[in-house]
Amino acid sequence: MSSPAIYYFDNNATTQVAPEVVEAMIPFLREHWGNPSSSYTFGRQLGRQLDEARVKVAALINAEPREIVFTSCGTESNNSAIHSALATQPHKRHVLTTAVEHSANIKFCEVLRKRGYDVTLLPVEPDGSLDLTRLEQAIRPDTAIVSVMWANNETGVLFPVGEIAALCRRKGVLFHTDAVQTPGKLKIDVRELEVDFLSLSAHKLHAPKGIGLLYVKRQVKYQPYIVGGGQERGRRGGTENVANIVAFGRAAELAVASLEDENTRIRALRDKLEDGILQGIPGTTRNGAKEPRLANTTNIAFEGVEAEGILMLLDQAGICASSGSACTTGSLDPSHVLTAMGCSAARARSSIRFSLGIYNTEEEVDYVLKHLPGIIARLRASAPG
Ligand code: PLP
Repeated sequence: MSSPAIYYFDNNATTQVAPEVVEAMIPFLREHWGNPSSSYTFGRQLGRQLDEARVKVAALINAEPREIVFTSCGTESNNSAIHSALATQPHKRHVLTTAVEHSANIKFCEVLRKRGYDVTLLPVEPDGSLDLTRLEQAIRPDTAIVSVMWANNETGVLFPVGEIAALCRRKGVLFHTDAVQTPGKLKIDVRELEVDFLSLSAHKLHAPKGIGLLYVKRQVKYQPYIVGGGQERGRRGGTENVANIVAFGRAAELAVASLEDENTRIRALRDKLEDGILQGIPGTTRNGAKEPRLANTTNIAFEGVEAEGILMLLDQAGICASSGSACTTGSLDPSHVLTAMGCSAARARSSIRFSLGIYNTEEEVDYVLKHLPGIIARLRASAPG
């Protein structure tokens, strides 16, 4: 694979593995590659590394280490939380979630529907926000779980998960939040939020793909989704991915340190990019509320141009951005998030997400602002009239 210079503005899709993280995990690929469940020291000693990593990721979200279940990804964590709520409360067959969740929720709910469960996908307002009165009214006596994401991966719009958790507590319903887009960007404190379940994915915070976690509050009953060996105290079968777990622990430490940068420097870069586009290119509109929103994300509609064309020309200039979520890119369907916000299919198909990260610089933002107006003008000039 060749590696020309890239200008990476797709940090909500995945992030570069931090050099410190690579360094931390390499010994567990090269030398310490044993199985932590083994009886002999070469394998068994790795249990300590797992414990240390668990302490670090628990610290990132202010949980107790024993409340952490390592999974393979954010998708597995989301599926597991919903599965557990249904399995531990067989008399409750309703799941309440929103129409703008990641496909890790939406598609799982489609499967649940086929299995005879009832699912409500709550609509959102045009700015991407949630009406909490509507949410409260949608909770039923047979609702097993409410699952609402914290930060939307496409627009960056934040939902008030603390308030939603309190509402669910009053109603006696379990609450899960998909917080995959938040570490390193928002302070996460599960004690303060009082959520029952929370999902994270390491590749969104400068660790490798293929490792995630599900926080399960201590008093909450849990039924595993992946069943096999007794790993994770019987909560998730499968030999532990030691190198990735160590990497996740290291990334969690670094994420705490980058929080400030994200909310000052990266916010300023995002605002420069967003303002530069909205003011410099006619026929552009932001999708979603300006605030409350992740400091790194902007989603913009370019009137009269297809996102596909924009992304192609951006790619030729070495700029990585996306339309919709990385998982749905390649499909011709307009983003389900923008559609749920009431955007027309044409507007949704003309929208691009830029998501910044700790490695972005002002020069890179200037580079995008220099190239993008010409790209849009070119596409508009060639569009059928
Ligand atoms: N939830 C959100 C909000 C995401 O943005 C993503 C990934 O894009 C996921 C879940 C899925 O995470 P993973 O890729 O680790 O399965």
